[in-house]
Amino acid sequence: MAIPKGNISQFEHDHADDDASDAKPTNIPPANVDIPRIERAVREILLAVGEDPDREGLLKTPNRVARAYGELMAGLRQEPRAHLKTVFHERYDEIVLLRDIEFHSLCEHHLLPFTGRAHVAYLPDGKVVGLSKLARLVEGYARRPQVQERLTTQIADALMEELHPIGAACVIEATHTCMTIRGAKKPGSLMVTSALRGIFKENPSSRSEILTLMYSEANHKV
Ligand SMILES: [Zn+2]
Repeated sequence: MAIPKGNISQFEHDHADDDASDAKPTNIPPANVDIPRIERAVREILLAVGEDPDREGLLKTPNRVARAYGELMAGLRQEPRAHLKTVFHERYDEIVLLRDIEFHSLCEHHLLPFTGRAHVAYLPDGKVVGLSKLARLVEGYARRPQVQERLTTQIADALMEELHPIGAACVIEATHTCMTIRGAKKPGSLMVTSALRGIFKENPSSRSEILTLMYSEANHKV
């Protein structure tokens, strides 16, 4: 459990009767979801599957699930493009690539997690952003009900429309638990999606350069 610096006694006081599964997020903005409404819905689900929501082990489950959803959906209340508004004007005309950005999202068809890594790149035309902003961009679009294809295009389109680069690219490799633990039950299967814009779409040598850069290291980790 991560404990916020300088506020340990207050944190311990607030969490005196929590167990490990109740650890509160420390680096994610408050989710602003309707906690009581989710609690009621989760209680309904427990009843519908034949469970007893009043047995000891399940008493706090509706609240835990509600807070977990709040965390997983935190991106719904954000405009991820806001992270691209602080730009530096640099005459840098080589590819900027941030690879292996870990993310956790929720498939909108089953509300089950899909997790993986995003590789995000652009070829600036005078405007660059801090690397951490690219990670924030991915996070903002991931923390909401999603499909991987849309997540991929939203990231590439945001880069194109906010930074007006010569090209932008996003490749995402992810494992979908709706595929691995139910349905097709294909453990280890990895879904790969890509969105190429500008020169990375139009120019074959630029396209092969960016895809080689993105995949070279990633392939060793799969
Ligand atoms: Zn699904």
